Parts: sequence; C-alpha cells; structure tokens
Amino acid sequence: MPGDVELWQQVENTAVSLFKDFGFEEIRIPIMERTELFARSIGEDTDIVEKEMYTFPDRKGDLITLRPEATASIVRAYIQHKLYAKDPVRKFYTIGPMFRRERPQKGRYRQFYQINAEVFGIDSPLIDVQLILMLVTLLARLSVKDAVPHINSLGCLQCRPQFKALLTDFLEAKSKDLCPDCIRRSKRNPLRVLDCKVPSCREAIKEAPSIVDTLCPDCSLDFDTVRKTLDRLSIPFQVDKRLVRGLDYYTRTTFEIQTGSLGAQNAVAGGGRYDGLVKALGGPDLPATGFAIGLDRLAEIVGLAESDFVKTPDVYIAALGEKSISKAFEWACAFGREGIRIDMDFSNKSLKSQMKRADKTNAQHVLIVGEKELEQQAVILRNMSTKEQVLIPIDDILEKVKRKIIEK
Ligand code: ATP
Ligand code: MG
Repeated sequence: MPGDVELWQQVENTAVSLFKDFGFEEIRIPIMERTELFARSIGEDTDIVEKEMYTFPDRKGDLITLRPEATASIVRAYIQHKLYAKDPVRKFYTIGPMFRRERPQKGRYRQFYQINAEVFGIDSPLIDVQLILMLVTLLARLSVKDAVPHINSLGCLQCRPQFKALLTDFLEAKSKDLCPDCIRRSKRNPLRVLDCKVPSCREAIKEAPSIVDTLCPDCSLDFDTVRKTLDRLSIPFQVDKRLVRGLDYYTRTTFEIQTGSLGAQNAVAGGGRYDGLVKALGGPDLPATGFAIGLDRLAEIVGLAESDFVKTPDVYIAALGEKSISKAFEWACAFGREGIRIDMDFSNKSLKSQMKRADKTNAQHVLIVGEKELEQQAVILRNMSTKEQVLIPIDDILEKVKRKIIEK
C-alpha cells in the first residue's frame, strides 16, 4: 500500500546501487517455468518441492509452476542463452515476487518478494565472503541492527558421503523423535533433516555430528579461508552446523543472515555455493554461488526514519478564484516538468482548507496565489517550517521559486 511502498522502494534502490557498486548486472526472469526445472534443481525432498509449489497443467497439459525462487531460472537462462560464452564469469541480480504455498503468518506469505544475487564462474571462496560482505553492507546502509551471518560448509561430493553415513547412524538412533517427513528424509536425504523447522526435530538433532569436522583437506582449507577472510574484514559471524541448504547441488559454503528482531521467521537472507547445478541442468561444469534476501522480512527491520526517504512536495500551490487556478495550473505543470515536486487540489476551496491540505502533504513551501496578488503581479511563497513568507514577482517565477527551494 502507499505508505509502505516508499520503504520498499528505498530498500530496492539501496540494493540496486549496492549491486552496481559490486559489478552486478540485472537479469529479469519469467514468473512461470516448467515444473521440471524446479523439481530437478531444488530437489524432490525439499519443503518447497514436496509441498509448497503452485503447480498446474496448462491447456495442453504441460505442468507449469509459479517460481518459488530465482536461482533455477537464472541458471536456466545462463545455459539456454549461453551467457557463459563471452565470459563465464557473470554476476546477476534480480528482484521480484516468488510463490510458495505455506501457512500464511508473520514473515511468511504465499506471494513474497526476494532480492537475488547469483555469481557464475568463480571458484574462489573469496567471492562467497564478498557476497556475505554485500549482505552486511546492505543491512548497514539500511540501518538494520542485530543481524548476524551464520555460516557452514557442506563439503563436496568427495567428503559428503562420509558425513552422510555418520548422520544417518545418528538419525536412526533418534528416529522416534523425528517428524514423519524427517523419518523419510533420514533415509533418502539425511542432510535435509538438519533444515527441518519442526521444533521436536530441532531438539532431536541438537547433538548431531558436525559436517565441518569431516571435511576433506580441500574443503577444510576453503572453509578456513572463508572464516579468516571474514575476520580480516571484521565481519562478526557464527558457525552453525545445522545450516544446510538441503539441495544436492549445494557445496561448500552456505550462509544465512539471522536477526533477533523478526521473531520465529528469523532468517532475512540465505545463500551459498552450488557448484554442481549448472552442469546438472545441462550446462558446462562451472561453479556458482549466490544469495536470496526476503524483502518482506528485510523491510520490517529497516532502521531508517521515514524522513530519510519519503519525498514530500517541494511546493503546494493554493489558488483562490478561477483566474488564479488557471494560472497556478500553468505553473504547476511547468514546475513538474522541471523536476520540482508539486501538489495542488484544483478546488477553489477557502485558503484555510487548502492550507490544511498542504500541511497534511508535508509540503515544504506553499505558493499562495490570490486574485488580488495576481493583479499586483506577485504571489506569496510561504516556507512551512520557518513560517517565513516572501512576495515573489510573477515574471520568471520558475527560476525564483527554484532558487528559494534550494535555499531552504
Ligand atoms: P524459511 O527458513 O523462513 O522457510 P527458506 O529456507 O524457505 O526460509 P530460502 O528459500 O532460503 O528460504 O529463501 C531466502 C529468503 O526468502 C528467506 O531467508 C526469507 O527471508 C525469505 N522467505 C522465504 N520464504 C518466505 C515466505 N513464504 N514469505 C516471506 N519471506 C520468505
Ligand atoms: Mg521455507
């Protein structure tokens, strides 16, 4: 709604300028894709694919899905349009609605909004750190307090099987405490159990083994670099062994930004490396990493004051009498064309009533145009904060008002 939108625009604009600062290009992806794309990329045993997707057959019976997230579509576009051909290193961002059929509640909507970033073609863990730094920077630019990156490593195809075996043993012993979904997952895809939101499952896995302890030397070095570099950049973080993205294609670093200010839905952003996905979807074997910010949740914790971003009219024009309205209308159009923010109500109501409305709009100045003043070839400009009034001759009024506005 108007009133909320200004804050959202501020968040979006701040994100866009951050992306420009770090060399990201915008990509716009479709709202719908073939169901198969999400099923293959997000994974069959995830909350999203198991129970949250809006999927329906079209007239020909092809299954299509309203996008529940952006990564799959961006990877599809990267492959389909050979965006890697000129240069495999590409950095994209996109902002828009996502759809998941969840139980609506605070911080959880069926149509929600994400700000996404994806980086292709870079192996180095330094880019993962840069993504975390970007998130931290965005939150700082939006005066968000109390947000901490949580990080983990998921290892690689070499070292994960060993961890999976350990975890499977652990889960077997705990099976009586797990929800039915997790009992099934613990056989098919045990890592997903770590991501379950059911409180009793969370309790049951408190003592689960930590993947960080079983990383192979390469993955271990990679995760060390991430931790050391975060330290070097003075970014406080927590290692969280429970943090898995759950997807088979995710590898190595995963992260989430959590905050104490959101209640139960405490993750404002999540991301990580998914080196296997481009290849799995039919593209070249190129590494990738990225993040998704929940815009609805982020907007709730922005610490800016409304006055930091809400733009009120520079000039409210109060005109009294038909002749004045006609002249005022001309000026209003000229001001607007020059980028001076204007408002007027075209009403011919009393000065008192028009001043009241000017006050409501929080206009910085009011230009009072009366028939008597017009005859004298001058109008009154009132500064609403200082209450100072000056008489402005109407020849060259545009320039004169402009100068007054800049003066403040
Ligand atoms: P959650 O743990 O809240 O279920 P998730 O792991 O399903 O989140 P991701 O797929 O990682 O979420 O999406 C990234 C971000 O998008 C989340 O951190 C969150 O801020 C936001 N998000 C996810 N689902 C919703 C939703 N239904 N409504 C609002 N925001 C959401
Ligand atoms: Mg979810």
